[in-house]
Amino acid sequence: MDVLRSCSVCGMEYSSHATHKKWHAAFLAQSAKFALPAYGRRLWTYRSCEEQKSVAWEALRGGDLQLELRVAAAERILYAWFCRSVTDTVSLDHPDFGEYCAMMLAHDAAFPQDVHAALARRYGLKPGFIHAGSYYKAPG
Ligand SMILES: [Zn+2]
Repeated sequence: MDVLRSCSVCGMEYSSHATHKKWHAAFLAQSAKFALPAYGRRLWTYRSCEEQKSVAWEALRGGDLQLELRVAAAERILYAWFCRSVTDTVSLDHPDFGEYCAMMLAHDAAFPQDVHAALARRYGLKPGFIHAGSYYKAPG
């Protein structure tokens, strides 16, 4: 009988140690390369991403926060998407956070206009890499 275990570091739920070992090693290597210290020394796990997004969307949609705080909330949402995108690739071949934001902002209008404009000024816009509904797909 398979027993499902959950790893508190990489967040993976698994029954096979071999599968987990590979994912876990990739997660640590990806964290070393891509995690932003401001958001912790490791990438966010799936569960953390969902929790962070939920809180940030609430702050963003509350509407009465000053722009700076709403931009910070949107950045946490972008970072959650970024963590999902990186860990989904299970490789080190991924744009860094700044470039990822520029790609996402070029096609995604999920954020209020003033927030989007502030983020676009910060990260720029890099169209043509990400299609609606997807996180990131390596070219080729
Ligand atoms: Zn793990």
